[in-house]
Amino acid sequence: MFQRQPIDMESYIRRAQTGPCFICEIVRRNPDPQYRNHIIYEDDTAIVFLNKYPVLYGYTLVAPRAHREHVTGDFTVDEYLAFQRRVYRVAEALRQEVPTERIYILSLGSQQGNRHVHWHIAPLPPGVPYREQQLGALNLEKGILKISDDEMASLAARIRERMERLNGV
Ligand SMILES: [Zn+2]
Repeated sequence: MFQRQPIDMESYIRRAQTGPCFICEIVRRNPDPQYRNHIIYEDDTAIVFLNKYPVLYGYTLVAPRAHREHVTGDFTVDEYLAFQRRVYRVAEALRQEVPTERIYILSLGSQQGNRHVHWHIAPLPPGVPYREQQLGALNLEKGILKISDDEMASLAARIRERMERLNGV
């Protein structure tokens, strides 16, 4: 089990609202440590990476590489469905790699910060009490798991392998 560490919510919010688009910076491989994320997978249209602020072990984000904002409005239905195929593949890879009682998939974001559309894929581990599941399990204010950089790199590699084996999906 990983311990939790608090995050500085004020600077997190300030970065989200005033900094450059963090997903575009990850896509262009900005070397600044705040944009150095563990990338799991990337293709012509999508990028998949571990959440830098993991409230759950294996918490992964999937985004279009291009800066799109609206979860349905910025996609044709065919683009949207093709994208969801990747979301499915990530979710199945996670379920295979990480002990998961239930997988959560959601798109949040805001026009006031974190505008680049992305999907959260968060595996809830077994044994979490009901009242601490769902939105309770995703609350950043509870702190994030203290996971070493080496462990994050290894986790990303293992999820990548699982995804490669699901290539036909
Ligand atoms: Zn962007």
